Amino acid sequence: MLQFSDMLKLGVYIQVPFCQTKCTYCNFHTGVVSSGRFAPYAEAVCLEIGEHRPLLEGAGVRLRDALGAAQLAVDTVYVGGGTPSLLEAGLLRQMMQTLAASFSCSLEEVTLEADPETIEEEQTAAWVAAGFNRISFGSQSFIDAELKAAGRMHRREHIYRAVPILRAAGIQNISFDLIAGLPKQTHASWRQSLQEAVSLGPEHISIYMMEIDEGSRLGREVLQGGARYSAKELPSEAAMVEFYGLAQSELRAAGYAQYEISNWAKPGFASRHNQKYWQRQPYLGFGAGAHSFSGMQRWANRHDAAAYVRAITEGNSAVETLDAVTSAMALEEELFLGLRQLSGIDLPRIEREYGVNFTASVAQLAASGMVERHSGRLRLPPERLSVSNEIIVELLRSLHATV
Ligand code: SF4
Repeated sequence: MLQFSDMLKLGVYIQVPFCQTKCTYCNFHTGVVSSGRFAPYAEAVCLEIGEHRPLLEGAGVRLRDALGAAQLAVDTVYVGGGTPSLLEAGLLRQMMQTLAASFSCSLEEVTLEADPETIEEEQTAAWVAAGFNRISFGSQSFIDAELKAAGRMHRREHIYRAVPILRAAGIQNISFDLIAGLPKQTHASWRQSLQEAVSLGPEHISIYMMEIDEGSRLGREVLQGGARYSAKELPSEAAMVEFYGLAQSELRAAGYAQYEISNWAKPGFASRHNQKYWQRQPYLGFGAGAHSFSGMQRWANRHDAAAYVRAITEGNSAVETLDAVTSAMALEEELFLGLRQLSGIDLPRIEREYGVNFTASVAQLAASGMVERHSGRLRLPPERLSVSNEIIVELLRSLHATV
């Protein structure tokens, strides 16, 4: 009989696309809706999880070919959004129970994204009882003027109030999100946010570089002018590079090891779930706009939450896009995703598996300091990570020229 330890371990992602307000920089497919829509949405997610095999096979996903016919094993869950902590704990518990009934589960890491102002004692205890053992906490900044300019609901005091509540409930794995490049942010205020975050002792810290997207209110103000969202007070690109370097040095000094472009952790607390994305391990996504990967195919559900609920409750799949992963695509993913990690990529394995030889191009890139070899692996130099996209694109270009 197959033991859990022998089974292929899947990550499960559940998307909850609802927020209390829309942050000025946000371009995600999330909406501010009445709380009356939460329960029908959670029911649809449970239906989708319970019926995943027939729904996916009906949509053309070749789950059996990619992952086998046996019951699938799940060891990590990530409930993200949006602001999933807005949902009543009972709805989150229902989702977890449905997962346990539908998959062979031995859950090691179960993350809930939560915003500081949504943390309450009773609710946190209910999350723990439902099986959540990691909270990813949308702190973003410790400076009220920056939080306000970004349209966030919480303030610094909410973060200080929330952390002891989480600890008292037994959460031993807290991750903070911080954003580098918020309007009004300065070198001094960024240093203060980093230092205050560290002083609260989270096990994990994610630093996201602000990306200005024309689909956000802030992005439109950058393009069209105006003063409502403080677009004129955005830090310069040069300042952003400095902010990233400051984060690297402050967090290293505080005992956090960087393991990915945007992620730092105390020993043993690197996110198991998120590493699956970068290591191209399979994961299933449920909910509106959720993405999935089987190793052979990538697919995504429709974004519109109402259309998603309608499709699922009518017994139809919500899959909107489905792509076979060709060998060329898989190779690009290996490089793009793998080089996000500080441990880099196992180049000999990739050369073997894809029948390619990168010796000449890697030597050239290494000579110009764009990549380095480290313990038999290829990686980006840590001090070049803030411009990683440009380097990876350059790497792909030079590799294509030699394939
Ligand atoms: S909380 Fe997150 S998903 Fe919601 S509006 Fe703000 S940035 Fe967007």
